[in-house]
Amino acid sequence: MIKRVALLGSTGSIGTNTLRVLNSLPNRFELVSLCAGSNAELLCEQAEYWRPKRVCIAQGAKEVQARLAPLGIEILEGNAGLQDLSVDPDVDLIINGLAAGVGLRPTLSAVRAGKDVAIANKETLVVAGHLVTAWAKQTGATLLPIDSETTPLWQSLQETNREEVKRILLPASGGPFFDYTQEQMAGVSRDQALNHPTWQMGPKITIDSATLMNKGFEVIEAQWFLDLPVSKIDVIIHRQSIVHCLIEYVDGGMMAHLSTPDMQLPIQQALVHPEKLPTQVEPLDLTKVGTLSFFQPDTERFPCLQLAYQAVEQGGTAPAVLNAANEVAVYAFLDDRIGFLDIPRVIAQALDEHEASEDTLEAVFDADRWGRDRANELICSLES
Ligand code: MG
Repeated sequence: MIKRVALLGSTGSIGTNTLRVLNSLPNRFELVSLCAGSNAELLCEQAEYWRPKRVCIAQGAKEVQARLAPLGIEILEGNAGLQDLSVDPDVDLIINGLAAGVGLRPTLSAVRAGKDVAIANKETLVVAGHLVTAWAKQTGATLLPIDSETTPLWQSLQETNREEVKRILLPASGGPFFDYTQEQMAGVSRDQALNHPTWQMGPKITIDSATLMNKGFEVIEAQWFLDLPVSKIDVIIHRQSIVHCLIEYVDGGMMAHLSTPDMQLPIQQALVHPEKLPTQVEPLDLTKVGTLSFFQPDTERFPCLQLAYQAVEQGGTAPAVLNAANEVAVYAFLDDRIGFLDIPRVIAQALDEHEASEDTLEAVFDADRWGRDRANELICSLES
């Protein structure tokens, strides 16, 4: 059966890699819709090639309208359009590659409508993992993780009794400041932070990788996708980004998943699960890699990782505040308003002040708003 797909975030790194994967898998998927933030030029190019039924753009609808309407493509706009795409009856599978907080609502709507969702947007499960997974159980929607670590873990653990798993290890590259001192880190620029050693990604997730918050989010996300408590999820620094995950069993044995770092692999793994099919990912030559090194993460220099565990411990709406405060702080850093080490400071303060409540949908949205407002106030006080 051909799966009918909506690709949200089509012009970002997940989106463009997903289109490469879909191109190499003809007759399996029909691309029904594409959605982008502001890159009208690339969205139009993609639509001219793929000829979807509809496209949606947050900003720049005029240009898109002029180019795509004559091709018979329907043009939608903004959040309302995004909402329509996520519950479109013509679609079976939503691929969510949206950046940051924008990704939450379409996932919630799609899961409630019983659609399968492939989720690359970590923020969704960080903020509302409990709700999304509970609703998916109710509606029969399948949640598929897209992440170089979580996808192979999720696939490997399908048939595994969780009692047999002692713990899993999520490797982190350590980012560009792996060997910086605290003093050096205080003064790093936006451009230094955006220079990730392995992956080419959007600015938000690249900063999250530099602070290790991205790995903290992965820990939170992994507990929902893998049905494991965070006490069984550890992080290890692995500079080469060749080992993507490790499973340690109670008998002392360990299994690792290795590959050339290329997002096309987890994307395809999720999309054709449980099959394995050829990809264009460069085969891994271990003799060329030579050495694999591992280190304990330094949570003094990278407090964001610990803040993620703290948010899980606080429970309820605390992870929503973690995400909200982080997002505001990261964009403030990208705007040169605060320093790199102010990012964890702002988040820690917001988390400490937050009184976590039970995570109903309303409470999650309230906590999200509160976290953003409080982070903004804290950033203003740092500036003055
Ligand atoms: Mg990852």
